[in-house]
Amino acid sequence: MKTTVDLPPRRSIYQSAYASRPKQAFTLVELLVVIAILSILAALLLPALQQAMTSVRMAACSNNLKQIGIVLTLYADDYDRRLMPPTGYAPGNTNGWVGQERRWTGIINPYFDMNWNDRWNLPYSMKCPSYKGTSAYYYGLNYNFSRKLDVIPAKGMTRSIMVGDTSGSFYLFPNRWTKPYHFRHLGDEQNEGTLNGLHGDGHVEGHDKSSGKIFTPHETCPLLNPFK
Ligand SMILES: [Zn+2]
Repeated sequence: MKTTVDLPPRRSIYQSAYASRPKQAFTLVELLVVIAILSILAALLLPALQQAMTSVRMAACSNNLKQIGIVLTLYADDYDRRLMPPTGYAPGNTNGWVGQERRWTGIINPYFDMNWNDRWNLPYSMKCPSYKGTSAYYYGLNYNFSRKLDVIPAKGMTRSIMVGDTSGSFYLFPNRWTKPYHFRHLGDEQNEGTLNGLHGDGHVEGHDKSSGKIFTPHETCPLLNPFK
């Protein structure tokens, strides 16, 4: 006589493990909890990330200024120890030492392997990364450095800004243009931050508005007058 045994229906391991669960993957509450956790993490991390990016931009700007300093030294070696001639709109000198009107930014172009005939601007790669404007005037030359290197006292070289962050001007010249200086690093949206400055001895240093009394006339401001 043939005996039959009733076996339960076959189920896979997967079916056994999850058969008792509802088919919904996760509940609305679980979803909201995940969203809340992600929001908290983003709120915690974003300010730190923004601060890090601000520091990175300041470092990149310092690197640009250091490179400009090297190029200015190369230029002085080639041109009788003179720094940039005060061409362009600088007062008191229309021709500088090159016989034609040029901005200092255009004069050092060949040292960046750019075309000499580009009379005006630094290469775009040298743009200050924190400069939001569209003009090419993001760095300005201190007009007081537009003379022979051995005329400028060594003490003045160290403490005075030779090239710095500007906005709407390619010269550091007080009270001549509406915004000759731009304190755009490490600050808030109102530009109440730090101005990056290449000093005459080649070091780059940040200055806030209070540190150097930079808005005083250049005759009395050591940061802008190497002879004071
Ligand atoms: Zn800058």
